[in-house]
Amino acid sequence: MARTRFTARRRRPGRRSVLQTPAPTGESAKDVAARLKSSASVGKSAQDYRRKSLEIHGWFCAKCGRDFDENNLHILTVHHRDGDHKNNPPDGSNWENLCVDCHEDEHSRDMLGRYLSDER
Ligand SMILES: [Zn+2]
Ligand SMILES: [Zn+2]
Repeated sequence: MARTRFTARRRRPGRRSVLQTPAPTGESAKDVAARLKSSASVGKSAQDYRRKSLEIHGWFCAKCGRDFDENNLHILTVHHRDGDHKNNPPDGSNWENLCVDCHEDEHSRDMLGRYLSDER
């Protein structure tokens, strides 16, 4: 009898998402974090003492005596003699320039290999 007519019409908010966000959440956050890490805090200070050490001790490996130039300088790393990365005296007395091979060798003896990932 009484035929009620339900106009089940929901009003949608006129706002339509133009792009369905492809959800890059994990990746972008990671990317940003990596960028911040490399450019801002860690990378900068590491680069800084490395440059100083290279200036003071020269572009060669203190162990095997290998020479370096701009083309392969990136594999010349700075080793901390006492193993303390925060001990960076400006006179360079705690630094030793080692090629990656010698550096790895140096740390594998002390089982401090993970230092490498920090220093590079
Ligand atoms: Zn070497
Ligand atoms: Zn080292």
